[in-house]
Amino acid sequence: MAEKVHITTAITYSNGPPHIGHAYEYLATDSYVRYQRRKLGRENVTFVTGTDEHGDKNYRAALAEGLKPKPFVDRISELFRAAHAGLNISYDYFVRTTDPRHQEFVQRMLQRARDRDEIYYRDYEGLYCVGCERFYTEKELLPGNLCPAHNRAVEFIKEGNYFLRLEKHRAEIRSHVERPGFIRPERYLNEVLNMLAEPIEDLCISRPKSRLDWGIELPFDSNYVTYVWYDAFCAYVSELPDTSDAALSAILPVTEHFIGKDILKTHAIYWPAMLISVGLPVYRCLNVHGWLNYGGQRFSKSSGNVADPLEYEKTYGPDVLRYFMLRDIVYGLDGDFSDERIIERYNADLANDLGNLTSRVLSMTQRYFGGEITSAPGANAEDRALAGVFAAIAEKAGAFTEELAFNRALEVIWQALDAANKYIVATSPFTLAKDRANLPRVAEILATLLEGLRVAADTLEPFMPTAARRILELLAVDEQSARAPYGRGLKPGHRVKPPVPLFPRIEKPHN
Ligand SMILES: [Zn+2]
Repeated sequence: MAEKVHITTAITYSNGPPHIGHAYEYLATDSYVRYQRRKLGRENVTFVTGTDEHGDKNYRAALAEGLKPKPFVDRISELFRAAHAGLNISYDYFVRTTDPRHQEFVQRMLQRARDRDEIYYRDYEGLYCVGCERFYTEKELLPGNLCPAHNRAVEFIKEGNYFLRLEKHRAEIRSHVERPGFIRPERYLNEVLNMLAEPIEDLCISRPKSRLDWGIELPFDSNYVTYVWYDAFCAYVSELPDTSDAALSAILPVTEHFIGKDILKTHAIYWPAMLISVGLPVYRCLNVHGWLNYGGQRFSKSSGNVADPLEYEKTYGPDVLRYFMLRDIVYGLDGDFSDERIIERYNADLANDLGNLTSRVLSMTQRYFGGEITSAPGANAEDRALAGVFAAIAEKAGAFTEELAFNRALEVIWQALDAANKYIVATSPFTLAKDRANLPRVAEILATLLEGLRVAADTLEPFMPTAARRILELLAVDEQSARAPYGRGLKPGHRVKPPVPLFPRIEKPHN
């Protein structure tokens, strides 16, 4: 059977519009997905994203705008869909947790866990943070019973609720967490292992309708709705075409989630427990990213720092935000985001290295040969050295992408572009072409460069899908030749197009 992979972003909470922090997760995930599709074949990769629409916070955000929750989340979900379109996110399924199909799936999971005695009822009293939508134990709170995440007082609540057994499965959860590669990068592993070193409390998975009626009703008690986290995890698989046990047992072991570090614990502990409790296999891995800082502050709804990613698409053009984020931020670590840095990267890497190389090589081919490739790549030592650099980039960039080192994958491509620019200086085809007797050598040099450009554009596709397509269109290659190894793509007799400006220099910051 063909190797498959199922990839998800987090299902985004819909209490506010998309911001740059969301865009980072979508763009990194989408590039990984595009890479996997190239490797495994389009039909062997599925990509799920969507909006998480139930729960207290969404309910309160709706109220604050004088709306009922459904019209409110309808509007927010549309904004996220538009952001996905604008950012060129190639998802297969956009799941809304208010979709009837999703809700039925959640109820099926709950009923099954209840039937297996994995969910039980008891009276509960505790300290509850509305912002986190969870109960806290006193030792988890800051002095004065403040929520550690929100730094505000928690409420004392007493009520009967349903609980999912977690402690019972702690050893089994731990055995998954300890699997090599389960948490990537590994720096986040200890945090979870520490939590699993001591008994963990069972998870309250219900909310009385008297307190909150915006959620999926428990199938076994109509006085309650489902805790929003239980609901949201199900969205990773709930709308796949086949949600039979057999299908889920095949897809979960090849499922990879891309998430932010703030939701690591819920994913590493609750979600495996939910799966174990219904007898399904646990997913393959969590790919954990850090936070984006802007002027020293984290991008988030609560910081009020909510730059609209689509504005960046409009200002800089397609792929620029994506390139910047993947190149400048080390996946797994926090990253700094600023307009100045984007413009620096843009001018140095995109306008100079990639844009200029493309336009110089295409314009020389036009000027000296009317756009026709009249030779195979050269066979001098310098030609072979450059060919060797480009011949190796797909494999090197692929290996880095597999380990989520997107910045290093891009570095590999840019090292090759740099080598190509230096090769032009060293071989100086402009000077050679002044004497017509040298044109055969100029043809070899250009063939060497054009073939390198083709391989670079092809390798760049997961990270800059629009730019890669535009360059391959200028090279006038079909998909099959585009994907060929170095030396087997562009043949003598082939015609390329005249250059068009790909990344015009930006002279000063936009405001
Ligand atoms: Zn809180």
